[in-house]
Amino acid sequence: MKDATSTDRSCHWCGAKLYFVQGRGWVHEEGGIYMMYCPDCGWKGAPYPSPTRCPRCHSRAIRDDHCALPEE
Ligand SMILES: [Zn+2]
Ligand SMILES: [Zn+2]
Repeated sequence: MKDATSTDRSCHWCGAKLYFVQGRGWVHEEGGIYMMYCPDCGWKGAPYPSPTRCPRCHSRAIRDDHCALPEE
């Protein structure tokens, strides 16, 4: 992620490191604003662009877990 600025803010919901990307705002380390969750295998991640299927088990049941929110 060469267009991202590393910061010491972390996500209010998951505690992961967040990055500020020009034009898109706060994103998770993998580049996605939304942390995704798979109820079938328990996978969690924030790839960008958001996948429509779980990258681990290919389930279509994945959903948004939360949106990146920097802690003050
Ligand atoms: Zn998070
Ligand atoms: Zn899965």
